[in-house]
Amino acid sequence: DLILFWHRRDLRISDNLGLAVAQEQSQKVIGVFCLDSNILHRDNVAPARVTYMIGCLQELQERYAEVGSQLLILNDEPSKAIPNLAAALNAKAVFWNWDVEPYSKERDRTVTEALKEKGIAVQNFWDQLLHPPTEIRTGSQQPYTVYTPFWKNWINKPKAQPAKIFQNQINLTEAEIEIAQTVGAIALPTAKELGFVWENELLLKPGEKAAQKRLYEFSESAIFEYQEQRNFPSVDATSRLSAALKFGAIGIRTVWSASNAAMEKSDREQAQAGVKTWQQELAWREFYQHAMYWFPELAEGAFRQVFKTFPYDNKPEHFQAWCEGKTGYPIVDAAMRQMNETGWMHNRCRMIVANFLTKDLLIDPRLGEKYFEQKLYDWDLSANNGGWQWSASSGMDPKPVRIFNPASQAQKFDPKAEYIRTWVPELRTVDTESLLTGKISPLQRQAFGYPQPIVDHNQQQREFKNRYSQQKTDS
Ligand code: FAD
Repeated sequence: DLILFWHRRDLRISDNLGLAVAQEQSQKVIGVFCLDSNILHRDNVAPARVTYMIGCLQELQERYAEVGSQLLILNDEPSKAIPNLAAALNAKAVFWNWDVEPYSKERDRTVTEALKEKGIAVQNFWDQLLHPPTEIRTGSQQPYTVYTPFWKNWINKPKAQPAKIFQNQINLTEAEIEIAQTVGAIALPTAKELGFVWENELLLKPGEKAAQKRLYEFSESAIFEYQEQRNFPSVDATSRLSAALKFGAIGIRTVWSASNAAMEKSDREQAQAGVKTWQQELAWREFYQHAMYWFPELAEGAFRQVFKTFPYDNKPEHFQAWCEGKTGYPIVDAAMRQMNETGWMHNRCRMIVANFLTKDLLIDPRLGEKYFEQKLYDWDLSANNGGWQWSASSGMDPKPVRIFNPASQAQKFDPKAEYIRTWVPELRTVDTESLLTGKISPLQRQAFGYPQPIVDHNQQQREFKNRYSQQKTDS
């Protein structure tokens, strides 16, 4: 009896919960991936992200072939394509792993209905989280809206071991392959063929093997220094696994057990603190996914009432300068250029530029959120939205308002201005102190072809606070 396994953001064969259960029930499990036009034709798709995803799919096809099965590719809307394929191949069931995003939930509902109408069974699993949203609740069974109590509950729950690897399968017959082709199975296109051009190297190579290698290297060394080093953007001190976690090139249980193994090996207090801090980041990932699951309205706008109608300026010329890394604030520009050129930005810098956009330029965080969506190869609706709302003070941060000073952020986290010099090379000969404080004379700026500051931080900070107080009294 054939089972179809529908891959979405779990592009791997190891530690894949749904796939592991499918192989317990049948020796003929065939994979399928749908190039979903509802996603690929959105306005904000980053070429770097599609390139990473297609790379993962290429490797996944090879891995399917190695175990004797295959991964079919469909190029249509899942609500039609998946049920049609399942019916044509006479599959007894379709399995997939759940997701928390509003679009995915709705899509899965329609696919399930269509399959059931055809008499095909459906089985679903929570694979991308260590704990599903229903498992972590407050004493009164409510979802958490504050991270710290969430973390305390989450860390104390027992966590599953990696799921069994997928192996020893029976493939489709020639006749079945022909049938699959008649209902739309195609060869995997390249990102270019889909209209997405990305020439730069990706920080993490696509695929399961590269993600496992990176996890192994990170949990053997940098994880122990994570607490001290993670905030310095010029240092390669974080795992850089975000894209792999977003597309499921690595299983979260595998990641968790690597962190636990590292914890067991830590003999110094600092090393243990490093591992624990990293585990807390994994919990942030789950916190924001749970939040998106329970509060899908987060995807539309501010969580806090006072920010629902905040009077932002939204000046187009300021937004454009921010996007291009031409604000005249070196640390902000360095970060934006890093993202534009690599499809990735260091976490500290994501906070700095998001804070700057919303509190210095007085621009609606949703614009910044969308721009990140257009550029990041690790873009994830929940993490991005959570990060933006945290930075804009519009979300689930118990501190009412947080304002970053770009100069003090730079002094603290890029003390030798190495990061700034890397990404804003026209300023590399300027002395460190001036690069950090941004106190570079107008003449010097002109000589280096570097913009004048587009706003004054102190003035904008006052303005933001005034508007915030006004909003609070009004609402
Ligand atoms: P590490 O420091 O090694 O952390 C390990 C993993 O934990 C990450 O890969 C990620 O999956 C998760 N993680 C770490 N920090 C966070 C966090 N604050 N929130 C949620 N998950 C976290 N992360 C994304 O994966 N996609 C996004 O689109 C995204 N957008 C962001 C936007 C803003 C404004 C901010 C402030 C943060 C955003 N983050 C996002 C979170 C964080 O910046 C990245 O996950 C991190 O920089 C990725 O690098 P890393 O893999 O080396 O992380």
